[in-house]
Amino acid sequence: MPERRRAPEGDCNEIMTTMAVPQRIDAQTGTKTCRFCGAGLQRTFVDLGMSPLCETYPSAAELNRGEVYYPLHVYICETCWLVQLEEYESAESIFSNYAYFASYSDSWLKHCEKYCDEMRARFGLGPQSFVAEVASNDGYLLQYFVREGVPVLGIEPAANVAKAAIEKGVPTLVRFFGTQLAKELAAGGRTADLVIGNNVLAQVPDLNDFVEGLEVLLKPEGVLTLEFPHLLRLIELNEFDTIYHEHFSYFSLISTIKIMEAHRLRVFDVEELKSHGGSLRVFACRTGSETHSVTPNVEEVMHDEVNAKLDRIEGYESFARQVKTAKLEFVDFLVTAAKQGEKVAGYGAPGKSATLLHYCGIGKDLIEYTVDRSPYKQGRHLPGSRIPIYHPDHIRETRPDYVVILPWNLTNEIMQQLQFIRDWGGRFVVPIPKVTVF
Ligand SMILES: [Zn+2]
Repeated sequence: MPERRRAPEGDCNEIMTTMAVPQRIDAQTGTKTCRFCGAGLQRTFVDLGMSPLCETYPSAAELNRGEVYYPLHVYICETCWLVQLEEYESAESIFSNYAYFASYSDSWLKHCEKYCDEMRARFGLGPQSFVAEVASNDGYLLQYFVREGVPVLGIEPAANVAKAAIEKGVPTLVRFFGTQLAKELAAGGRTADLVIGNNVLAQVPDLNDFVEGLEVLLKPEGVLTLEFPHLLRLIELNEFDTIYHEHFSYFSLISTIKIMEAHRLRVFDVEELKSHGGSLRVFACRTGSETHSVTPNVEEVMHDEVNAKLDRIEGYESFARQVKTAKLEFVDFLVTAAKQGEKVAGYGAPGKSATLLHYCGIGKDLIEYTVDRSPYKQGRHLPGSRIPIYHPDHIRETRPDYVVILPWNLTNEIMQQLQFIRDWGGRFVVPIPKVTVF
């Protein structure tokens, strides 16, 4: 199996930990309902059209085959403010390619190590404690608790990924997580002082069953931490390309608190992180716990969200317009460059480039090729657009006038690496939040 490296942040190469999506479309009326509260979904947040699955990179031999496209239609629930992707009958096939992982970047591992140190210090975790992580992957995070002698359990449905964790000394259960598994663990006395869910909540189709399970898995005074991309940043920074089929839900703190409360969980702290274009780390405990008092951070983030009108439909109405404007400006730039005979190449082949290029209708007539450091992707093609992916040296050999940075979250790092394009007057282009030439 080819090795697949996880991009440091903001990519969709995240291990899937979910089973098939439960169908929430009323067979008689065709009405879709909210994944959390069950209210009818009427309002479109943004409709990004049809897009192929972001993790299928056709090889040269596969170019004569078709690809399956799915709609990327995102709704906003006007009852609980959960932003969510429409679900599809054939969603099972979305997961078929997700049997594997993921070795993590150095910067991500540092982030994890720091988290473990902070949690041990703040909650006094030691040899007498028990830490459980849902979607624990290859033990990338729990290894730092193991190193300090804190007993852990990883829960990871992909057997080959779990095997890598076990080999590095991280006990791992190969199971899908939900209420049923949490009850089994609790019945065996295995409730946790700390339950961790990093970048998994967005990918959970049965949100209520999952969050209920998190509560069941907690000790009475235990702490739950969840990390997920922050909807406020997605809207503010126009990060529409982070919407893809694997991400079913997009959370604000407002909707998160409602979801937690419905499952007897109380949010007592929140941190804003830079990862994934701006994430939240939410701390919660059981409603009845008196150990953890609410920090001012909760009020601050809530204040920001209310200021951005995320507690009203007004806060969501302009997103589709702002996305369309960004598309028109980006396409306009590329068409002008093409008319002037200028050569445009891409840099990177992250999952989010599929959404960007499909929504914008861009093919290799406008971006001739892209490059990527992952040997797995080199020689393959971007999904749908079939833009070829080469080794980064191809840029030096072909001297393009513009290099479009597709993983925009790494813009500074990439511009430093590619300073040499200045030698022939090359310039950098970043498409998000709006097309900008450097
Ligand atoms: Zn709802």
